Amino acid sequence: MSATTTLRQRKDANTSETATRDGETTVGKVKKLIYHYSELPEWQKDNDKILNGYVRETQSMVKCLKSLTYFHNESVNIYTHLIPSATYLVLLMFFTDVILIPHFPTTTMSDYIMINFYLLGAFVCLMCSTCFHCLKQHSEAHSNIWSKVDYMGIIVQISCSTVSLLYYGYHDHLFYFKVFTIITVVLGSCCSAFVLNDRFNAKNWRICRAAFFVCFAFSGIVPVLAGIAKFGLAESLQRVQVKYVTLEALFYLSGALVYGFRIPETFAPGKFDFVGHSHQIFHVLVVAGSICHFRAVMGSYFFMHTGKLGSHLLTLG
Ligand SMILES: [Zn+2]
Repeated sequence: MSATTTLRQRKDANTSETATRDGETTVGKVKKLIYHYSELPEWQKDNDKILNGYVRETQSMVKCLKSLTYFHNESVNIYTHLIPSATYLVLLMFFTDVILIPHFPTTTMSDYIMINFYLLGAFVCLMCSTCFHCLKQHSEAHSNIWSKVDYMGIIVQISCSTVSLLYYGYHDHLFYFKVFTIITVVLGSCCSAFVLNDRFNAKNWRICRAAFFVCFAFSGIVPVLAGIAKFGLAESLQRVQVKYVTLEALFYLSGALVYGFRIPETFAPGKFDFVGHSHQIFHVLVVAGSICHFRAVMGSYFFMHTGKLGSHLLTLG
């Protein structure tokens, strides 16, 4: 046996894949952590335009949590929501009453509660999404549960967003505030019943899911239009901060389109496996939308107490 042959055999032994008893694969002596689409169990095959970088079914919460420590095709999805979620929690716990919310003589406890109520909704939504993307690799049963948690988080955020802005926008028209809040709660409850149904999670329902959440989120336009009819455009621009709400709507709408039509990986399968695929873009746009809403709520609060536009509040761009 020549020296070259021995060397090649050693190299083959180091790179050959071996299936272990617990379903893991080793390459040489190293455990394989990420897999190709074709190596996944059927239930994990969702997006055939993302070819590589998968964490294969782990059957272990610990292994799911360990996936936070290496880079795979869900890492960007996880951290784009984990970091803003933690930030909202820190703001909510320690900073809203100290720095973020300017105090006016007419400021009440309810004003603080409603701003924090919005931040709580944003925190819950982003944290539910983080858990889903991190823990869905456990098994099909866990994935189904966490996907419902993810959808419920979106419903919580849409509801908290609408109610918080209604509170400031209609602070002097309690009847409108009550009517629109009741409508939001009823719609949110109906949506919850719908998303908790197993059929909603079906793979071929992706575009329907995107359209569904867009419709629920855009139901928030009704109170804005009612405000324009009642107070006129100029005052509504300040009361419900139409500028920021419009920007927020554009972010959510473009996010839903990107998610629904799987842009850009549909045009170049395999090119956006780790960074830049549709779900990641969708996540970033959701966070951008939530920041716009926070700005809108703050502006609306400022207008409620001063009758002026809060030009020195957190400004975007
Ligand atoms: Zn997501």
